[in-house]
Amino acid sequence: MRSLAGKIVAYDAPSTEEIARRTGIPVADILRFDGNTSPHLLPSTRAEALADELARLHTYPHGGYPRLEEAIAAYAGVSPENVVLGAGADDLILLVVRSFAGRGDRVAIANDPTYPIFSIAAWVAGAEIGDDEPALTICCRPNNPTGELAELPEARPLLVDEAYFEYSGVTAVDLIEDGVIVTRTFSKAFGLAGARVGYALAGHEIAAALRERQHPAPLSTLSAALAIAALESPPDVRPILDERDRLGRRLRELGYEPWPSRANFLFVPVDEPEGLSDRLLRKGLPVRPVPGGIRITVRNEEDDERLLQAL
Ligand code: PMP
Repeated sequence: MRSLAGKIVAYDAPSTEEIARRTGIPVADILRFDGNTSPHLLPSTRAEALADELARLHTYPHGGYPRLEEAIAAYAGVSPENVVLGAGADDLILLVVRSFAGRGDRVAIANDPTYPIFSIAAWVAGAEIGDDEPALTICCRPNNPTGELAELPEARPLLVDEAYFEYSGVTAVDLIEDGVIVTRTFSKAFGLAGARVGYALAGHEIAAALRERQHPAPLSTLSAALAIAALESPPDVRPILDERDRLGRRLRELGYEPWPSRANFLFVPVDEPEGLSDRLLRKGLPVRPVPGGIRITVRNEEDDERLLQAL
């Protein structure tokens, strides 16, 4: 294999079953604060959306996924030609990076710390990370793990990762005809992380060129059906935003100083992120250790109080 130009250590987390095995805590009592996913279970009515697709599961998704592209286009205020589908936003980030950058190129990454897959995507493409005449610039908005809504870089082409768009309500989608590519996901506010559905929004030419560089059936038809059903009633993020503000106040009462966040998580500076995360993991309450702090996913009042108790 070609070697990678760098290495990201421990960007994945143990499974809930593995945490249960290590700690002796029942799976049902483990609350994940580390994935920035929705705390809600899938409504059982969604299973109906799968029934028709199950009957067609022996065939390929010939003709693509026009219904999902149309539904996303309506949701995002673009046309279906602007939509490129993938198996999660990660799939699209990898596609966009390898389409723009290769050996000898640099990819500029706007915030530090930020989402680790950007660096991995650049290295896998053979490119390096750097600000000197980049082939592509990447900006995560709101930024993971800090929750900030950083200023939009002026560089083009520009990938703006809006995995947490639903929480911030702020988008760069009006710039897609100006060399901006937006990536989004059904994994967070829409509660479909396991289904692996994401999309990129890009100008007609870039969207068409991205599709040419993609394999023909990038997501499961079952996942597409779940995403279409989810778009029929987009999530109300208000309760999460209210709980985020309450959790922030409660953390401050305990002497922590969480950063203001425009997403469904809080960045809390601490001296020993790994040590604190380990202790919380042993209580069945995994958070994400990140450089300089821990990142806490907002769940609901009852769950968040358990974490505050442990802290
Ligand atoms: N971008 C950011 C900033 C994320 O935090 C995540 C999920 N951790 C993703 C993209 C990837 O999401 P998906 O599940 O759609 O691959």
